Amino acid sequence: MHKHHSALGVATALKPAAPVTLIRPQAAARAARFFAQKFPGRSLYAVKANPSADLIRTLWDSGITHYDVASIAEVRLVAETLPDAKLCFMHPVKAEEAIAEAYHVHGVRTFSLDTMDELEKIVRATGGAADLELCVRLRVSSEHSELSLASKFGVELGETSELLMATRQAADALGICFHVGSQAMSPQAYSDAIERVRAAIVDAAVTVDIIDVGGGFPSVYPGMEPPALEAYFDAIHRGFESLPISYSAELWCEPGRALSAEYSSVIVRVERRRGTELYINDGAYGALFDAAHIGWRFPVALLREEESEAELTGFSFYGPTCDDMDHMAGPFMLPGDVQAGDYIEIGMLGAYGAAMRTGFNGFTSEAIIEVEDEPMTSLYADPVPARRRATVIKLG
Ligand SMILES: *Cc1c(COP(=O)(O)O)cnc(C)c1O
Repeated sequence: MHKHHSALGVATALKPAAPVTLIRPQAAARAARFFAQKFPGRSLYAVKANPSADLIRTLWDSGITHYDVASIAEVRLVAETLPDAKLCFMHPVKAEEAIAEAYHVHGVRTFSLDTMDELEKIVRATGGAADLELCVRLRVSSEHSELSLASKFGVELGETSELLMATRQAADALGICFHVGSQAMSPQAYSDAIERVRAAIVDAAVTVDIIDVGGGFPSVYPGMEPPALEAYFDAIHRGFESLPISYSAELWCEPGRALSAEYSSVIVRVERRRGTELYINDGAYGALFDAAHIGWRFPVALLREEESEAELTGFSFYGPTCDDMDHMAGPFMLPGDVQAGDYIEIGMLGAYGAAMRTGFNGFTSEAIIEVEDEPMTSLYADPVPARRRATVIKLG
């Protein structure tokens, strides 16, 4: 793989005609060390945020030994990439064949569920195995999060006791898990959800061995500057310590975004300017799905050898396909004199960005280059990277 010093260096030296994904293994390693050392329990990487084998190896080397996988393809990927990793199959609705292969071929013992049907399916697919770790997924509120995960999965309060008792019978270890929604902007999200867990445990009167607080840990984006992650860890630790659970119970979390967002950014080229609309060569069908479909704002920077003096102006982007929906409203703040031929770095695309790229309309890009400079923003760097700080503050 090519290695360069910085995003600016890549743009000026290579003048790439197609988008280039930049990767920063050092940033992912720093995030992994942070979770491995500071989260008061075990951290599972949620692979769907970015299933890059290189990233997964980097996380492993920095202390992440457990992986939250949600499809049989993710199970196979991680099993191949890291034969010694522990895999937890945490999608509550799985194909029976996927459960059987995960259990019998890849040694997976941990599964999540939110219905009696899924419990019976797991028992059938594993031949009534006696060594299962089963986590019941509770429905919790997404009110503190930017992206809801509240409507699709999770057992309702009224049905929780019955499911917990039945799962206790089938499981060697019983867990309770939830997901507060992605990009949770307040630690209160976890405190509230843990209260829900407490009620469920008291009602069912079962012994619980694992509390899994899921993902949702935030990253930094324009207009979304969350409290320090330590505040989240403190709230979770306090909640966990106060639960009526077995003395040896374990605390787990499943960060996806927080471990991968800083890993990647993308360099795009402006192909045309029309007023404050920039036609760029990546978009909704590439790395910018969230920017297009849920109006997510990513940090941007103009990559010019000589820094522009022009005032920052709000731009929207059009992607390269012929589809009107290939539009990112932003606003993305860039110097007012940006023009066709300029390169722009779009940051924080390591989570749910680079991983979402399709080949629609013939526009895609496999180009990946490793760089050594800091990500555009960071929850882990102290202080925030100097080159970027001015932009970040103006953007917020
Ligand atoms: C998506 C997902 C995660 C990761 O969520 P983030 O918000 O990226 O941290 C964790 N667990 C489950 C079950 C998920 O579906």
